[in-house]
Amino acid sequence: MTSSKDIADQGMDTGTSTGATTRLNGAPVSSEQHSITTGPQGGVSVHDVHLIEKLTHFNRERIPERVVHAKGGGAFGELTVTEDVSKYTKAGLFQPGTVTPMLARFSTVAGEQGSPDGWRDVRGFSLKFYTEEGNYDLVGNNTPVFFIRDGIKFPDFIHSQKRLPDTGLRDANMQWDFWTSSPESAHQVTYLMGDRGIPKTWRNMDGFGSHTYQWINEAGERFWVKYHFKTRQGWDFYTDAEAAELVGQDTDHSRRDLFEAIERGDFPTWDVKVQIMPFDEAADYRWNPFDLTKTWSQKDYPLIPVGHFTLNENPRNFFAQIEQAAFAPSNLVEGIGFSPDKMLLARAFSYADAHRYRLGANSDQIPVNRPVSQVNSFSQDGAATHRFADPKLPVHGSNAAGRGSQESADHGDLGLWAAEGEEPFRGAYLQHPEDDDFIQPGILVREVLDDAARDRLAGNIAGAMDGVSPEVEERVYQYWTNVDEWLGAEVRKRFTANKGA
Ligand code: NDP
Repeated sequence: MTSSKDIADQGMDTGTSTGATTRLNGAPVSSEQHSITTGPQGGVSVHDVHLIEKLTHFNRERIPERVVHAKGGGAFGELTVTEDVSKYTKAGLFQPGTVTPMLARFSTVAGEQGSPDGWRDVRGFSLKFYTEEGNYDLVGNNTPVFFIRDGIKFPDFIHSQKRLPDTGLRDANMQWDFWTSSPESAHQVTYLMGDRGIPKTWRNMDGFGSHTYQWINEAGERFWVKYHFKTRQGWDFYTDAEAAELVGQDTDHSRRDLFEAIERGDFPTWDVKVQIMPFDEAADYRWNPFDLTKTWSQKDYPLIPVGHFTLNENPRNFFAQIEQAAFAPSNLVEGIGFSPDKMLLARAFSYADAHRYRLGANSDQIPVNRPVSQVNSFSQDGAATHRFADPKLPVHGSNAAGRGSQESADHGDLGLWAAEGEEPFRGAYLQHPEDDDFIQPGILVREVLDDAARDRLAGNIAGAMDGVSPEVEERVYQYWTNVDEWLGAEVRKRFTANKGA
C-alpha cells in the first residue's frame, strides 16, 4: 500500500550537500560563485549558460497565486476507517479498515500570499485522498455553511473581501455592503464574527465538507451526506486583541504550528463523521438541504462516526507539494456524487479550471496531484507532459480494440434530486422515425451525385484506405454498404485492385 511517506517523497531529487551541483541537464556546473567575464574586469558573457539558466529560472519561480485561499500550508497523512458505513456508500476509501494516504491544505480565504494567518477569516480545509479508485478531493472549510448559495455571486463576494481598485486597500464598507445586500450571508457572518472566526491554529479547528454530497451504495441506493471533521486537539481561538498582537510578531503562526507539531511527532488528528439523509427526505426537510447557507440539525441527523485522519508527514518541498497542490470538487470517485447545490455544481467546474490556468493542462501529472491508481485516458499532450499511454493503445475513443467502450459505474454526476424530467441525463439523442445514420448519406450518394461524382467518391475512399488492418478493412466495406450497396461493393473492388497493383 502507498503510505503518506511514499506520497511525500514523490518527485524528490537525490542531491547531496557536498560535491558539485548540476545544471538542469544534470551535468556539473563549473561555479556557483563567479560569472564568466571578458577578462577580470570585463562584461558578463551570455555563453555562461549556467548563469543564464540560473537567472532566467529565478525570474520564473512564481506562478499565479490562487485568487482565493492564496495563503496556506499543509501536510500529508492517512485516513483510517474504523466504522462500517458501507450501507451508505460503496466508495473504496470509506470501507471498514481501509487506510488511505492523503494531503490536507489549510488556508485563509481573502489574504494574499504572505498575509497573516491570524486574520479573522474563514479557513480553507481541503483534503485530497489518494484512493485505489482515483483521487478524491473534499474541498471544504472550517465552517459548515457559506456566505452565498449560488456560484454566480462568487466573484462579487470575493471582490468585496479583497482590495479597492484605487488604494489597493481592504475595505470594511465594501465587505458590509456585500453582506448586508446578501441576506443569505447572515449565518456564515455570525460564525465568522464569533469565537470560531479566528482559530488559534489550524490544528484547533473543525473541518466541514459544507456542501451536501451524494453517497451511493453497492445496491445503487442514494443518500445525501454532509462531512464533519472534529478536531481531537480541541477547538481554540484568539480574540481580536490577541490576534492583533500576534500578527505583529508572526504572520505565519498557523503554518509554523502545523509544521513544528508534525516535526516533533505530535500528529494532529480529526475524527471523521457524517450526517446521512435518506434520499427522499430531501423533498420535505424543513430547510432546503442543498442550500449551502444552512446546516442540517444534528438533532434531526446525528453525527455518524466513520474513522479519523492523522497528519504525519510534512511536505518535503513547500512549492512543489503545497503551492502546486490542486484540489478540485470535480475529483470524485465511485460511490460519491454531487447534489443539486448550485455552489457545489459551480465549483465542480471552476476549481479544475483555476488549476488549468495556474498550473497548466497537466496539473494532474505533478507528483503531488498524481493518482496512485492507474490512469488510462484519451487526453494527451499539452505543456509539461510527462505521463503518456502505452503507444500500442488506440489514442481515440470509438476504436476497433474497444478501448474506452466499457463505461464504468455510477459516478454521482447523475441521480441529482430534481423534478421528474429535469434529471441530469447522459444518453443518446431522442430518435425520430428516420434517424438512421446511413439514410441521409445514402440519399446523397443515390439521388444527388451524378455517375461521375459517385465514381470519384468510390475512388477517393479506396485511395484513403492505404494501411488499414484487415479487420478495419472489412468494417469499412460494411460501413459503405450500409450507406449504399453499390458503393460498398465498388470500394471493395477498387481497394482490392489497388492492393494488387
Ligand atoms: P446542535 O446543538 O446539535 O449542534 C450545535 C453545533 O454548533 C455543534 O456542531 C457545535 O460544535 C457547534 N458550535 C458550538 N459552539 C459554537 C460556536 N461558538 N460557533 C460555531 N459553532 C459552534 O444543534 P444543531 O445541529 O441543531 O445546530 C444549531 C446551530 O448550530 C445551527 O443553526 C448552526 O448555526 C450551528 N452549527 C450547526 C452544525 C450542524 O452541522 N448542524 C455545525 C456547526 C454549527 P462542537 O460540537 O464542536 O461544539
